Amino acid sequence: MNARQGELFSNDVPEWELDAASSTPSALIAFSEPPFGPFHYRIPDELSGTIKPGMRVKVPLGKGNREMVGYCLGIEVVPLDASRLKPILESLDLQPLCTGNLLKLVDWMSKYYLTPIGQVFEATIPAGVRTQAGTRMRTLLTPAASFSFDPDGDNSTSTSSDSIMSSLPTKQRHVLQQLILACEPLTVEQLQKMSNCSSAPIQALRDRGLIEARSERVMEGEDSFSANPNKLVQPPALTADQRVALVSIREALDSSKHETLLLHGITGSGKTEVYMQAIEHTLTFGRQSIVLVPEISLTPQTRQRFQDRFGAVAVMHSHMSGPERHHQWRRISEGAAKVVVGARSAIFAPVPQLGLIILDEEHENSFKQNNVPRYHARDVAIHRASLEQIPLVLGSATPSLETYRRAITGKYKLLNLPRRIHNRPLPEVSIVDMRHERIDPNRGSLSKTLYEAMKATLRVDGQIILMLNRRGFATTIQCPACGFVVTCPDCDLPLTHHHEGSKAVCHYCDYTIATPPECPKCRFSSVRYTGSGTQRLEIEIAKNFPNSPLSRMDADSMKKPGSHERTLSDFRNGKTKILLGTQMIAKGLDFPNVLLVGVINADSALHFPDFRAAERTFQLVTQVAGRSGRGEKAGHVIVQTFSPEHPAIDLAREHDFLSFARQELEHREKFQYPPFGSIARVIVRGPDVVATEAFANVITQLSEKVRSAQGATNVRFMGPAAPPLAKLKTFYRFHIMFIADDPISLNRLLTRVQADLKPPKDIEYVIDIDPVDML
Ligand code: ADP
Ligand code: ZN
Repeated sequence: MNARQGELFSNDVPEWELDAASSTPSALIAFSEPPFGPFHYRIPDELSGTIKPGMRVKVPLGKGNREMVGYCLGIEVVPLDASRLKPILESLDLQPLCTGNLLKLVDWMSKYYLTPIGQVFEATIPAGVRTQAGTRMRTLLTPAASFSFDPDGDNSTSTSSDSIMSSLPTKQRHVLQQLILACEPLTVEQLQKMSNCSSAPIQALRDRGLIEARSERVMEGEDSFSANPNKLVQPPALTADQRVALVSIREALDSSKHETLLLHGITGSGKTEVYMQAIEHTLTFGRQSIVLVPEISLTPQTRQRFQDRFGAVAVMHSHMSGPERHHQWRRISEGAAKVVVGARSAIFAPVPQLGLIILDEEHENSFKQNNVPRYHARDVAIHRASLEQIPLVLGSATPSLETYRRAITGKYKLLNLPRRIHNRPLPEVSIVDMRHERIDPNRGSLSKTLYEAMKATLRVDGQIILMLNRRGFATTIQCPACGFVVTCPDCDLPLTHHHEGSKAVCHYCDYTIATPPECPKCRFSSVRYTGSGTQRLEIEIAKNFPNSPLSRMDADSMKKPGSHERTLSDFRNGKTKILLGTQMIAKGLDFPNVLLVGVINADSALHFPDFRAAERTFQLVTQVAGRSGRGEKAGHVIVQTFSPEHPAIDLAREHDFLSFARQELEHREKFQYPPFGSIARVIVRGPDVVATEAFANVITQLSEKVRSAQGATNVRFMGPAAPPLAKLKTFYRFHIMFIADDPISLNRLLTRVQADLKPPKDIEYVIDIDPVDML
């Protein structure tokens, strides 16, 4: 037998393995809710050959044979009597929703993030795809088999069909003739229109068995898939630095091997241009690319650049409707999109011939999902690229220390873009020490330096970006007489006053009340608002600069679809002069006329009980500073802080990533924090504080036992302790931190702990691997 024949036969199950009494082909089915499985189910004869891994099926579960939807993980021949397995009832998909390497990726995620595989499936396949959003069933009519579509009528049944035809009432005969003449299946509406009749004669013909009907699922509505190949923008000639970087990426692409490359390029150095030319190269061998960006809806500009260059771009973002998502997903799986640009979950895009993955702003926390499965898109991207044997490019002006260390130790290839395009200088950054600033109620949150700089910038018709990383009007509502602070009853944290609607809102659970006009405790006749948010800043700026139109960009003002695009385009075309907002405005924006960036409070992230607090602050200040001076005129940045000597702020002032990284790595190494160790966090929550803490203690005791049994002396843990959010949405919370020098020991220990844990009623726990959030 030659190789070709071997291939042909390799899928057939040899007959001697199919001894029906002792073994049976079955499917392994997992669920997205408890009990997660997987369990074996018999494949009934009528479904034989149609069930494939990655499809969803309906199966009976438990004593009551509750009908459940499950995911098929694989087909196996099990040494079991067929009659002992329950049968699959129905297959829900014609094609697998997930195949090949994506299936392997799901499996890896399930093990690495200690999450049942059914839940991982649920996260990787968009809900709109699972519910087939934007499609409907339609009925297609064809003449019964005894009538030929062949209008020449040259077949043996024609005589009998002639006699049937002549025996029909006129209306019905006419309808049937129209259907035969159409030579293609018609919907009921089409046939009614063609033969100018009601549905009655059609139904009569169906009842007589002269018309056959079948159902088919079709897409409906327009899809937002863009393909405008007419006016594609031509790429510019690369700078020398860009060329060197591109050569390395092309080499990786040409080698058909997996490699991770870090493109460390300062803000405005032309990273996006390098990505686009790498994608172009990928297209020359017929492959598609995935580009992951932190928040595509915040950066309509980025998406436009890809669309202008490539035309057939599929965009996936969080504001998409179910039908839109489903359309995009289909177009992607058909290979119609050259490039998929999207946020976190676009890493699961079913691209058929994936050639390259790019992850821009790789340091961003939004790549980590903060509900189950708590995956980090960067780590998933690394794994997918390695399964596909393709390169992965990570890009950032301020790489995460995890990534940066791997680059300097040679695990990743390091590519540098140390200069801005056209050698434009980085903006000069001045620090205002707020400890010595005289408060002027007229200027509000603005120091004199920032106020004067704003005036000067507006005089020369420059534009200004101001960042204050707190939304709302005031962060505390306090009684000036008794000191009482209005807090959330469910989270025990201060409520934020919102000027619009005069509401007091909990930023952790959205609990909202009307802001009390007097102290709820001592009935003093007024309350004081302290700590500024973007709403107060907006009012102050409008008062101080009445002739300069401004917009505010934060989670509250950007609720309506399309509001980002509108706000940013008003700023781009100069309709607004000042753009203020939360960290939403810190990233990715490229406006050449922004000559001044002001950071109102650089310390907002600095004093968090989180080992990444300094890194975050450095990143935020550097990124927002990078919005300035991107055009021909030089830019200026003013940073207001109470901690001017803190390295995160001082080194951001000097745009000195390398020194910051060196210092911070030394610090991390001392405590074995990432990138020197792996961490995991177990969070326990429950309605009763004593019972919740008791269960957290059970976890540490069990962990201790497992650690001895496994000899895992390299794993240590701290806690249980109350996290900064000790109460959330009425639940008390405790956390335990696990630290190990390698992720494998940590995974093995937690896998064992998870298997043995039985939380009491009402108490829940989650395991967060590689957490980025310590609240
Ligand atoms: P980054 O992604 O590093 O912030 P961009 O790719 O957005 O930088 O580039 C910054 C600006 O420079 C953009 O307006 C871009 O169009 C422009 N640019 C990038 N590369 C070139 C080039 N080789 N020649 C001319 N302009 C370029
Ligand atoms: Zn709350």
